[in-house]
Amino acid sequence: MKENILGVDVCGDTYEQLADKLLEDIEHGRKSFIVAINPEKIMKAQQDEELNHLLNQATYQIPDGIGIILASMLKGGKIRKRVTGIDMMLHLCKEAAIHQKKVFLYGAKPGIADEAKSKLEEMYPGIQIVGTLDGYEKDEQVIEARINESKAEIIFVALGSPTQENWIISHKDKLSPSVYQGVGGSFDVISGRLNRAPAFFQRFGLEWLYRLLKEPWRWKRQLVLPKFLIKVLKG
Ligand code: UDP
Repeated sequence: MKENILGVDVCGDTYEQLADKLLEDIEHGRKSFIVAINPEKIMKAQQDEELNHLLNQATYQIPDGIGIILASMLKGGKIRKRVTGIDMMLHLCKEAAIHQKKVFLYGAKPGIADEAKSKLEEMYPGIQIVGTLDGYEKDEQVIEARINESKAEIIFVALGSPTQENWIISHKDKLSPSVYQGVGGSFDVISGRLNRAPAFFQRFGLEWLYRLLKEPWRWKRQLVLPKFLIKVLKG
Protein backbone atom coordinates (compact mmCIF):
# COMPACT_ATOMS: atom_id res chain seq x y z
CA MET A 1 0.00 0.00 0.00
CA LYS A 2 1.49 3.33 -1.10
CA GLU A 3 0.20 6.88 -0.76
CA ASN A 4 1.20 9.73 -3.00
CA ILE A 5 2.16 12.97 -1.28
CA LEU A 6 2.74 15.90 -3.65
CA GLY A 7 3.89 13.55 -6.38
CA VAL A 8 6.10 11.33 -4.22
CA ASP A 9 5.11 7.77 -3.25
CA VAL A 10 5.27 6.77 0.43
CA CYS A 11 4.87 3.23 1.80
CA GLY A 12 2.46 2.44 4.62
CA ASP A 13 4.30 -0.69 5.85
CA THR A 14 5.63 -1.16 9.38
CA TYR A 15 9.22 -2.16 10.22
CA GLU A 16 8.12 -5.80 10.54
CA GLN A 17 6.22 -5.85 7.24
CA LEU A 18 9.13 -4.22 5.44
CA ALA A 19 11.64 -6.64 6.95
CA ASP A 20 9.50 -9.60 5.79
CA LYS A 21 9.32 -8.18 2.26
CA LEU A 22 13.05 -7.50 2.20
CA LEU A 23 13.91 -11.03 3.36
CA GLU A 24 11.68 -12.33 0.59
CA ASP A 25 13.44 -10.07 -1.91
CA ILE A 26 16.75 -11.62 -0.84
CA GLU A 27 15.35 -15.17 -1.14
CA HIS A 28 14.18 -14.47 -4.69
CA GLY A 29 17.32 -12.55 -5.66
CA ARG A 30 15.25 -9.42 -6.33
CA LYS A 31 16.90 -6.01 -6.12
CA SER A 32 15.19 -3.67 -3.71
CA PHE A 33 15.95 -0.14 -2.72
CA ILE A 34 14.79 1.70 0.40
CA VAL A 35 14.71 5.48 0.51
CA ALA A 36 13.75 7.68 3.48
CA ILE A 37 11.16 10.33 2.66
CA ASN A 38 10.86 13.57 4.61
CA PRO A 39 9.20 16.95 3.93
CA GLU A 40 12.53 18.47 2.87
CA LYS A 41 12.99 15.88 0.11
CA ILE A 42 9.38 16.20 -1.09
CA MET A 43 9.68 20.01 -1.25
CA LYS A 44 12.95 19.74 -3.19
CA ALA A 45 11.32 17.27 -5.56
CA GLN A 46 8.65 19.87 -6.43
CA GLN A 47 11.29 21.80 -8.35
CA ASP A 48 13.54 18.92 -9.29
CA GLU A 49 12.00 16.48 -11.74
CA GLU A 50 15.04 14.20 -11.59
CA LEU A 51 14.86 13.92 -7.80
CA ASN A 52 11.12 13.23 -8.03
CA HIS A 53 11.77 10.39 -10.46
CA LEU A 54 14.63 9.07 -8.33
CA LEU A 55 12.48 8.90 -5.18
CA ASN A 56 9.66 7.16 -7.04
CA GLN A 57 12.05 4.61 -8.50
CA ALA A 58 12.79 3.18 -5.04
CA THR A 59 11.05 -0.06 -4.09
CA TYR A 60 10.14 1.14 -0.60
CA GLN A 61 9.79 4.83 0.35
CA ILE A 62 9.69 4.96 4.15
CA PRO A 63 7.87 7.75 6.05
CA ASP A 64 10.85 9.23 7.91
CA GLY A 65 9.55 12.18 9.89
CA ILE A 66 6.46 13.43 11.65
CA GLY A 67 5.76 15.79 8.72
CA ILE A 68 4.90 12.82 6.49
CA ILE A 69 2.46 11.44 9.07
CA LEU A 70 0.76 14.84 9.39
CA ALA A 71 0.52 15.08 5.59
CA SER A 72 -1.09 11.64 5.38
CA MET A 73 -3.61 12.64 8.08
CA LEU A 74 -4.43 15.88 6.28
CA LYS A 75 -5.01 13.99 3.04
CA GLY A 76 -7.20 11.34 4.67
CA GLY A 77 -4.48 8.72 4.23
CA LYS A 78 -3.66 5.82 6.53
CA ILE A 79 0.01 6.27 7.41
CA ARG A 80 0.19 6.83 11.16
CA LYS A 81 3.59 5.51 12.18
CA ARG A 82 6.99 6.75 11.27
CA VAL A 83 9.60 4.40 9.87
CA THR A 84 12.88 6.23 10.33
CA GLY A 85 15.95 5.49 8.25
CA ILE A 86 18.15 4.62 11.19
CA ASP A 87 15.55 2.43 12.94
CA MET A 88 14.85 0.62 9.67
CA MET A 89 18.58 -0.03 9.37
CA LEU A 90 18.77 -1.33 12.97
CA HIS A 91 15.70 -3.51 12.45
CA LEU A 92 17.20 -4.98 9.29
CA CYS A 93 20.47 -5.65 11.14
CA LYS A 94 18.54 -7.52 13.82
CA GLU A 95 16.78 -9.63 11.17
CA ALA A 96 20.07 -10.14 9.28
CA ALA A 97 21.62 -11.58 12.45
CA ILE A 98 18.66 -13.93 12.99
CA HIS A 99 18.46 -15.09 9.36
CA GLN A 100 22.22 -15.09 8.71
CA LYS A 101 22.15 -12.54 5.91
CA LYS A 102 25.44 -10.85 5.04
CA VAL A 103 25.72 -7.10 5.53
CA PHE A 104 28.04 -4.45 4.02
CA LEU A 105 28.54 -0.90 5.32
CA TYR A 106 29.57 1.67 2.69
CA GLY A 107 30.05 5.37 3.38
CA ALA A 108 30.98 8.03 5.97
CA LYS A 109 34.47 9.27 6.85
CA PRO A 110 37.39 6.80 7.02
CA GLY A 111 37.14 4.61 10.14
CA ILE A 112 33.50 5.38 10.92
CA ALA A 113 31.99 2.37 9.12
CA ASP A 114 34.41 0.11 11.06
CA GLU A 115 33.34 1.71 14.34
CA ALA A 116 29.69 1.27 13.37
CA LYS A 117 30.46 -2.39 12.52
CA SER A 118 31.87 -3.00 16.04
CA LYS A 119 28.83 -1.36 17.64
CA LEU A 120 26.41 -3.41 15.51
CA GLU A 121 28.28 -6.61 16.42
CA GLU A 122 27.78 -5.77 20.10
CA MET A 123 24.10 -4.98 19.55
CA TYR A 124 23.26 -7.99 17.36
CA PRO A 125 25.49 -10.94 18.29
CA GLY A 126 26.08 -13.25 15.34
CA ILE A 127 25.54 -10.54 12.72
CA GLN A 128 27.76 -11.10 9.67
CA ILE A 129 29.14 -7.74 8.58
CA VAL A 130 31.26 -8.98 5.70
CA GLY A 131 32.77 -5.67 4.61
CA THR A 132 33.09 -1.94 5.17
CA LEU A 133 34.31 0.88 2.94
CA ASP A 134 34.51 4.61 3.61
CA GLY A 135 32.60 7.07 1.45
CA TYR A 136 35.68 8.87 0.20
CA GLU A 137 37.11 5.98 -1.83
CA LYS A 138 36.52 7.16 -5.38
CA ASP A 139 38.00 4.28 -7.39
CA GLU A 140 34.92 2.64 -8.91
CA GLN A 141 36.72 -0.66 -9.51
CA VAL A 142 37.86 -0.87 -5.90
CA ILE A 143 34.35 -0.13 -4.67
CA GLU A 144 32.67 -2.71 -6.91
CA ALA A 145 35.27 -5.39 -6.24
CA ARG A 146 35.10 -4.95 -2.46
CA ILE A 147 31.33 -5.20 -2.42
CA ASN A 148 31.02 -8.12 -4.83
CA GLU A 149 33.85 -10.13 -3.24
CA SER A 150 32.13 -9.82 0.13
CA LYS A 151 29.01 -11.55 -1.27
CA ALA A 152 26.89 -9.22 0.86
CA GLU A 153 23.12 -9.50 0.56
CA ILE A 154 22.23 -6.21 2.27
CA ILE A 155 24.16 -2.95 1.82
CA PHE A 156 23.71 0.28 3.74
CA VAL A 157 24.92 3.31 1.81
CA ALA A 158 25.82 6.40 3.85
CA LEU A 159 26.89 9.06 1.33
CA GLY A 160 24.26 11.73 2.08
CA SER A 161 21.24 12.56 -0.02
CA PRO A 162 20.74 12.48 -2.99
CA THR A 163 24.27 11.15 -3.71
CA GLN A 164 23.52 7.81 -2.06
CA GLU A 165 20.24 7.37 -3.96
CA ASN A 166 21.92 8.16 -7.28
CA TRP A 167 24.71 5.76 -6.43
CA ILE A 168 22.26 2.98 -5.60
CA ILE A 169 20.30 3.41 -8.85
CA SER A 170 23.39 3.43 -11.02
CA HIS A 171 25.22 0.54 -9.29
CA LYS A 172 22.68 -1.97 -8.05
CA ASP A 173 22.50 -4.01 -11.25
CA LYS A 174 26.20 -4.79 -11.26
CA LEU A 175 26.56 -5.54 -7.55
CA SER A 176 25.80 -8.65 -5.49
CA PRO A 177 23.51 -7.28 -2.74
CA SER A 178 19.75 -7.61 -3.10
CA VAL A 179 18.79 -4.98 -0.58
CA TYR A 180 20.05 -1.36 -0.77
CA GLN A 181 19.25 1.29 1.84
CA GLY A 182 20.45 4.89 1.77
CA VAL A 183 21.08 5.85 5.40
CA GLY A 184 22.58 9.40 5.39
CA GLY A 185 24.45 10.10 8.61
CA SER A 186 23.42 6.86 10.37
CA PHE A 187 26.94 5.39 10.61
CA ASP A 188 28.03 8.58 12.41
CA VAL A 189 25.22 8.05 14.94
CA ILE A 190 25.74 4.29 15.39
CA SER A 191 29.51 4.73 15.82
CA GLY A 192 28.75 7.18 18.63
CA ARG A 193 30.33 10.16 16.82
CA LEU A 194 27.00 11.96 16.56
CA ASN A 195 24.30 12.03 19.20
CA ARG A 196 20.74 11.10 18.45
CA ALA A 197 17.92 13.04 20.11
CA PRO A 198 17.10 11.65 23.59
CA ALA A 199 14.37 8.98 23.80
CA PHE A 200 11.75 11.49 24.98
CA PHE A 201 12.09 13.57 21.81
CA GLN A 202 12.12 10.44 19.64
CA ARG A 203 9.00 9.00 21.25
CA PHE A 204 6.94 12.10 20.53
CA GLY A 205 8.33 12.75 17.06
CA LEU A 206 10.09 15.88 18.31
CA GLU A 207 13.57 15.32 16.88
CA TRP A 208 13.11 18.59 14.99
CA LEU A 209 12.59 20.45 18.31
CA TYR A 210 15.73 18.88 19.82
CA ARG A 211 17.68 19.90 16.72
CA LEU A 212 16.26 23.41 16.92
CA LEU A 213 17.28 23.72 20.58
CA LYS A 214 20.79 22.43 19.88
CA GLU A 215 21.38 24.23 16.60
CA PRO A 216 19.07 27.29 16.66
CA TRP A 217 20.76 28.74 13.57
CA ARG A 218 19.08 26.00 11.56
CA TRP A 219 15.62 27.48 12.19
CA LYS A 220 15.32 28.68 8.60
CA ARG A 221 15.68 25.12 7.29
CA GLN A 222 12.81 24.08 9.55
CA LEU A 223 10.40 26.48 7.89
CA VAL A 224 10.10 23.78 5.29
CA LEU A 225 7.68 21.85 7.55
CA PRO A 226 4.89 24.49 7.76
CA LYS A 227 5.41 25.33 4.07
CA PHE A 228 5.10 21.67 3.20
CA LEU A 229 1.91 21.19 5.26
CA ILE A 230 0.28 24.26 3.68
CA LYS A 231 1.13 22.92 0.24
CA VAL A 232 -0.36 19.52 1.14
CA LEU A 233 -3.57 21.21 2.34
CA LYS A 234 -3.87 23.29 -0.83
CA GLY A 235 -2.98 20.42 -3.15
N1 UDP B 1 29.75 11.32 2.98
C1 UDP B 1 30.52 10.37 2.34
N2 UDP B 1 31.16 10.69 1.16
C2 UDP B 1 31.00 11.90 0.58
C3 UDP B 1 30.18 12.88 1.22
C4 UDP B 1 29.55 12.54 2.43
O1 UDP B 1 30.65 9.25 2.82
O2 UDP B 1 31.58 12.12 -0.50
C5 UDP B 1 29.10 10.94 4.25
C6 UDP B 1 29.38 11.85 5.43
O3 UDP B 1 30.62 11.51 6.02
C7 UDP B 1 28.19 11.54 6.34
C8 UDP B 1 27.09 11.24 5.33
O4 UDP B 1 27.72 11.02 4.08
O5 UDP B 1 28.45 10.40 7.11
C9 UDP B 1 26.08 12.39 5.14
O6 UDP B 1 25.28 12.49 6.20
P1 UDP B 1 24.13 13.57 6.29
O7 UDP B 1 23.60 13.54 7.68
O8 UDP B 1 24.59 14.87 5.71
O9 UDP B 1 23.06 12.89 5.31
P2 UDP B 1 21.76 13.54 4.70
O10 UDP B 1 21.23 14.54 5.70
O11 UDP B 1 22.19 14.16 3.41
O12 UDP B 1 20.87 12.35 4.48
